Amino acid sequence: MKVVIDKERCMMAGECCYNHPWLFAFGDDDYPVVQAVEITSEQQRKEARQSVQVCPSGAISVIE
Ligand code: SF4
Repeated sequence: MKVVIDKERCMMAGECCYNHPWLFAFGDDDYPVVQAVEITSEQQRKEARQSVQVCPSGAISVIE
């Protein structure tokens, strides 16, 4: 599984970083970045999919 952020759509509200700090962090340009972690467990997959749902601008997508 891979998680991708579309910076063109991101409005930097930060829900992804606050709700799933193991997966997202703010980068130097203040946009969130996907941290280099292996998404292996079912719980991690579930949270990654949840991050798509909580993003208010539809900027996060998951590639299964
Ligand atoms: S939740 Fe969506 S809009 Fe908010 S910072 Fe993360 S990617 Fe950007």
